[in-house]
Amino acid sequence: MENLLISSCLLGVNCKYNGKNNYLPLTERLKSDYHLIPVCAEIFGGLPIPRIPSERSGSTVINKQGEDVTENFVRGAEEVLRLARFFDCKTALLKERSPSCGYGEIYDGTFSGRTISGNGVLSDLLRKEGIRIYRESDIQKLLK
Ligand code: SF4
Repeated sequence: MENLLISSCLLGVNCKYNGKNNYLPLTERLKSDYHLIPVCAEIFGGLPIPRIPSERSGSTVINKQGEDVTENFVRGAEEVLRLARFFDCKTALLKERSPSCGYGEIYDGTFSGRTISGNGVLSDLLRKEGIRIYRESDIQKLLK
């Protein structure tokens, strides 16, 4: 079976900034066709639960208090990449719009709920590695 990297919050893990999760019931159906490799780049990068929410702002990541947390986001993404290589993951299913996991669309850095075109820090890194990324609204494409 193929190993599939997956945002752990989609599996119900309470690793979101607010201590909650983004459980997606359809992930249950992935279990019969993939080995799921759950990851959370923000936790791997040393940020706590709960934590102050952050958004990408150009090449940096800034939290809502104005602190630069880019180093945490980059370090966490590199740790996820380490696991992706270890488990030879060719595909990832990631949470939408997150400053780490977002793919194709992310929040615009103003904490206003507006979005712009772009990728999260983790998605950027995984794309460079050649890993195919699916957003959670694309999960049907992974179901066999
Ligand atoms: S970094 Fe990714 S896995 Fe972790 S809470 Fe945010 S969206 Fe979910």
